[in-house]
Amino acid sequence: MSTAVNRQIMLVEKPAGKLIPQNFRMAEAAIPEPKVGEVLVRVLYISLDAANRAWMQGVTYRGAVEANAVMAGGAIAEVVESKVPGFFAGDLVLGDAGWQDYAVLSADDLIKVPRAEPITHSLSVYGIAGLTAYFGLLYVGKPKPGDTVVVSAAAGSVGAFAGQIAKLKGCRVIGIAGGKEKCDWLLSELGFDVAINYKAESVLKALKAAAPNGINVYFDNVGGDIFEACLPQMGKYGRIVCCGAVSAYDGAAPATGPRGVPGLIVIKRLTVQGFIFTDFSAERETALAELRSWVNAGKLQVREEIIDGLENTPDGLIGLLAGENRGKRLIRVSAPKL
Ligand code: NAP
Repeated sequence: MSTAVNRQIMLVEKPAGKLIPQNFRMAEAAIPEPKVGEVLVRVLYISLDAANRAWMQGVTYRGAVEANAVMAGGAIAEVVESKVPGFFAGDLVLGDAGWQDYAVLSADDLIKVPRAEPITHSLSVYGIAGLTAYFGLLYVGKPKPGDTVVVSAAAGSVGAFAGQIAKLKGCRVIGIAGGKEKCDWLLSELGFDVAINYKAESVLKALKAAAPNGINVYFDNVGGDIFEACLPQMGKYGRIVCCGAVSAYDGAAPATGPRGVPGLIVIKRLTVQGFIFTDFSAERETALAELRSWVNAGKLQVREEIIDGLENTPDGLIGLLAGENRGKRLIRVSAPKL
């Protein structure tokens, strides 16, 4: 899998509707040289995230990705050459290396991670997915034992961790996901109490039956119709954790909804809070220690779907947006060498 050139997946144009393979093309460039203050890294695994698609829509919590540029994306990479004190060839780092074999990055944009197996966990449970679920649920949602917690995109990478962490904190957990197989998985393997297949049943009706006394915490990964269905079922003083809105990422902006904003939010005295996982960087080590203890004790299941080959990155993201994935989806670009 190693290459002498730098293969790069470029975003040809920003998609007007749904993302398609033709929005990308493979290019080849020379392997870049690091300057003082920079390191050259070889990408090992690329993280596929729903947010990759949102970055194409414009400025979010980061700059927009532009046409004719290498597609951005988080990755775990190995340092090949360092011109920064404290970084050495062979170090493993996390950073936005993009969809390519090699990248030059400034040390300020890198986080060193331990070479603990499996290294993919640095992109799943100990990376963006696990930390987002942990901080969003515990620091924003503030669940109490016995609370009813609803998680959407519950079989996805953030959602599967958010639901399991809510169970670990003694909550009753309702997951919303697309498809029977995903719902069965939530119930049989991840310990969710209820699973709602939003593609086959009315979410509002199912929530009325499953949460007759109201939802205390709604962990929202999808926005749109599902957010709208959760609103009237919220209990008084409920907390809505606005993690993301994947229903609005892959296409034109939705024409309607969610209705009930702000009316129901006022009447029910809801707390609706958005967050980005990096808001809690100061608590990163605390979160990682607790996540590690749960994984090591077998209490938190980590499902990773690993697809081989940089060339398969566009299809991997298109499939994730269509709901193909269960848990965290990654692309294996190359094996560690050093
Ligand atoms: P993911 O959940 O692994 O994959 C996305 C899932 O979204 C798909 O598997 C699909 O599952 C579901 N989905 C797609 N279209 C949908 C629709 N129209 N309605 C309902 N569900 C739909 O992706 P992820 O990267 O972990 O991201 C999940 C959410 O977390 C996103 O909103 C993302 O922006 C957010 N996020 C936020 C932060 C933060 O710091 N705030 C950090 C990371 C991620 P189904 O089969 O169930 O439809």
